[in-house]
Amino acid sequence: MTKNYLKLQFYSLPQNQAFARDAVAAFCLELNPSLSDISDVKTAVSEAVTNCTVHAYRGEVGIVTVECEIEDATLHIRVSDTGKGIADIDQAVQPFYTTLPSDERSGMGFTIMQTFMDGFSVNSVSGEGTVVSMSKKFEAEVMENA
Ligand code: ATP
Ligand code: MG
Repeated sequence: MTKNYLKLQFYSLPQNQAFARDAVAAFCLELNPSLSDISDVKTAVSEAVTNCTVHAYRGEVGIVTVECEIEDATLHIRVSDTGKGIADIDQAVQPFYTTLPSDERSGMGFTIMQTFMDGFSVNSVSGEGTVVSMSKKFEAEVMENA
């Protein structure tokens, strides 16, 4: 069955958010995704990469790594940083929890990732960095006879 792999590394500059989500969307085209699937994946990648920019490397610039793997009809995505890390993950993934209310953050990034993807988990070590793992299963394409 299909297996494919992609690794992107880039600076945590805001202008790379669009690049990252569009690159992942292009990568998963081989799975014949619906527009809704593409939109879900782009939204989730955007949220994860934005978190690296605004939280992990706040006030500085660091490296963001996005890895994707296609296994059968499932897209696995891993977004990692080596930034400040998350002290309490259970708290961080709660809807509306944000450590930056002053920036008008709504605290919904992790909730959006969870809602739009089929699999979601966060691993983090304070002072070392964070890894967000997500997966989405694409519906098998129904081939019509012409
Ligand atoms: P929003 O995503 O709605 O703009 P937010 O980024 O604060 O707001 P989440 O994306 O749900 O909300 O993240 C919740 C909290 O988890 C953040 O406020 C931040 O404290 C922490 N966090 C998330 N990602 C990271 C990361 N990569 N590194 C360090 N802390 C993070
Ligand atoms: Mg966020």
